Amino acid sequence: MRDFSRGHEAMSVNTATLRAQWSLAEIIEGCARHGITAISPWRDQVAAYGLRQTVAHLRDAGITLSGYCRGGMFTATDKTQRALARDDNRRALDEAAALGSPCLVLVVGGLACHADQSFDKDLAGARRQVEDGIADIFDYARSLAMPLAIEPLHPMYAADRACINTLSQALDLCDRLDPMRSGALGVAVDVYHVWWDPMLAASILRAQKPRLLAFHVSDWLVPTRDVLNDRGMMGDGVIDIARIRGMVEDAGFCGYCEVEIFSELNWWRRPADEVLEVAIARHKTVV
Ligand code: ZN
Repeated sequence: MRDFSRGHEAMSVNTATLRAQWSLAEIIEGCARHGITAISPWRDQVAAYGLRQTVAHLRDAGITLSGYCRGGMFTATDKTQRALARDDNRRALDEAAALGSPCLVLVVGGLACHADQSFDKDLAGARRQVEDGIADIFDYARSLAMPLAIEPLHPMYAADRACINTLSQALDLCDRLDPMRSGALGVAVDVYHVWWDPMLAASILRAQKPRLLAFHVSDWLVPTRDVLNDRGMMGDGVIDIARIRGMVEDAGFCGYCEVEIFSELNWWRRPADEVLEVAIARHKTVV
């Protein structure tokens, strides 16, 4: 396992972590100032700044990507909406390629939504739509050499964000669509979403390097006050992050550890420089 105690070369910042305080341009500058060499930006932030400006700024600042957030959201009750989602995923792939991202992260979508915003209750059907959606964009992703990283989300998001909820479920899908384990399809392991899973160690072992495309860190607070925006700083919660990092590294992962903290009640209210300082310190001690 890599020794993180002396430096933070392996640390990346998911830009959602600082979205309340800084624009994308400020995040790039701030990360460079703190010696952080990788970020994972969100599409809306890139759109607001401009794709070409973002590419140029990253290049000038010497910052690379650990991922691009995000594609997915494949589920919908009508066919036209599903087709629009796939078109949007192809655009996300183009952007990821322009930015030189190592993968496009997929948050696949939850239950399909009716026009009146009520949820369709066919969970198995939603999961089939996800598989069809990924299958549909897979050739295009391969043509761009842009790997797709399915991010299983904690089951509390099954209705509204992602109906792929465990690593093992994501890996089953990978095996069906990419049986040769080409590296073009894999998973993003986010400790916040998978720490509770009794099959976690076995699933990481099963994934191995060709399927391990990204590693995200934050912490699970007790109590969690908001299901979406109350993630903890590494070390403030109950996840044994270093143990999980050991598992992914034993399985061959040697990429960035991406700090991804949505925190309406705490970290989004603090000065961004302070958030980065604390994240770097925790990266050295608990990640
Ligand atoms: Zn994540």
